[in-house]
Amino acid sequence: MNKVTIVSPDYYKQFHCITEKCTFNCCNGSWHIDIDKQTYEKYANNEMTTPYLAYIKTNPDAVNDRKFAFVLIEKNKSCPFLNAEGLCQIQKRWGVAHLSKVCRNYPRNAKLLAGIREKSLLLSCPEVLRLALFRDQQISFVTQEYSDHIKATVANDQSSETYILRVKQLILDVLQEQGYSLDIKLYVVGYILQDFQALDQDEQDKTEMVLNCDYKMLLQQYAEPMGQKKANGWQEAWTLQVVAEIANFSFKTSDWKEFQELGAQAMAGLGLRGFRSREEINEQVIDKFTDAVRVLVLPFIASHPYWLENYLVGYIFTYFHGDKTALFTQYVRLVLVYEVTLFILTGLAAFRRECNEEMISVAIANIIRNLVQGKAILDIKINQIERKSQLNIGYVGKLIFGKDMPY
Ligand code: SF4
Repeated sequence: MNKVTIVSPDYYKQFHCITEKCTFNCCNGSWHIDIDKQTYEKYANNEMTTPYLAYIKTNPDAVNDRKFAFVLIEKNKSCPFLNAEGLCQIQKRWGVAHLSKVCRNYPRNAKLLAGIREKSLLLSCPEVLRLALFRDQQISFVTQEYSDHIKATVANDQSSETYILRVKQLILDVLQEQGYSLDIKLYVVGYILQDFQALDQDEQDKTEMVLNCDYKMLLQQYAEPMGQKKANGWQEAWTLQVVAEIANFSFKTSDWKEFQELGAQAMAGLGLRGFRSREEINEQVIDKFTDAVRVLVLPFIASHPYWLENYLVGYIFTYFHGDKTALFTQYVRLVLVYEVTLFILTGLAAFRRECNEEMISVAIANIIRNLVQGKAILDIKINQIERKSQLNIGYVGKLIFGKDMPY
C-alpha cells in the first residue's frame, strides 16, 4: 500500500449526474467517445453484448489501452447507444460497470502532479458549473491522504512538476485574494508568470521564488492606477474586435448545433448578425455592448459576487497542468477564454434581455467544450499572436483593460 495525497475542490463529492433532467446530455455532440480495451473485450466476450461492436471501431492509432476503440457517432452527432429518452441503453441494461472508462468517469478527471493526485470535474458539464459557480462563497480545496494500491507514480522530473504545482497554487491564491477586481488579479497573474518565464534559474530556484512571491504588493500597486471596475476594456473597439473574431470563428467552425445557435444569438444581440470582419465593430456595436454590460451583466455580477472568480479558479485547477505548453501560454489561453466568455454572455444577455444562471451554465459548458477541450481554435489565435511577437503581458493587458498598461 502506498500513501497517496488527493486534492479536490469542495464541490467534487456533491456531484451527481442529473441524467434525463440534463438539457445538455454529454453523449450528444462531436466527442470522440473512447472505448478502453477491457470494456471492448467485455462486450466481445458476451453474445448478448457482441452486437454493440457494430457501433464501435477499433482504433489503429491507439496510443494506450484507454483509446483502444471508439464509438461511431450517428450523423445527428448523438451516441448510438442512447434511447428515445436520451438514456444510455448499455447503462440501463447492464449497469455502470459495463460502461467504458470515459463514460463511467465523465465529468470526473484526475491528474498526477508532483506526486499529488488532483481530482477535478470538467467544466463542460452544466451540473458541475451549477455547483462550482453559483454559490455564495469561494471554492475551497480538500486534501486527503489515502492508503491505496495505486502505484504512487514518481514524476519524471520532480523539480519541474513541483515548480508547476507551486505556480498553480500561487495563481489560485492571487485569484482568490479579496478586495481587488478580477481583472486586476488576472493581470497580476500574467505579470508574475512572464517574469518567471524570463528567469534563467533552474526550476528548484524558481520554486523558491514562487513561494516568496509578494503578490499582495503587486495587487496594491496595480489596483490604484487601473481602478476596480470591469467594463473599461469592453468599451474599447480593439478589445471587442479581437474577442469578436475569436468567438465568431469558434461558432463557425463548431460541429455543435447548440453552440452555433448560441453564437447566432450572441452576435445578433450585439447587432453583428452575419459578422464578417472586425471593421463592423463600430460606435453602435460598442454602445449596444456597453449598454448590455451596464444594464444586464454588471447587475448579475453584483448579485453573484463569486461566480466569475469561481469560474477562473475552477478552470485553473482543472485545466492548468504541466503539459508541454509554456505556463505563460497556458495563461494567455485562460485570458482568451475569460474574454470570449464575457463577450458571448453579453451578446446573449443583449439578445434575450436577461442574464441568469441557466443561460450562463449552458453558454460556459459550450465554450469549454468548443474552446478548451477542443483546443485548436485558441492554439491558432495564440500562434498568430506569437508570430507577431505579441505574446506578452502588454498584449494581455490591452486585451483586459482596452489600453496599454504601465508594465
Ligand atoms: S452533462 Fe453532466 S449532468 Fe448532463 S448528462 Fe452529462 S454528466 Fe450528467
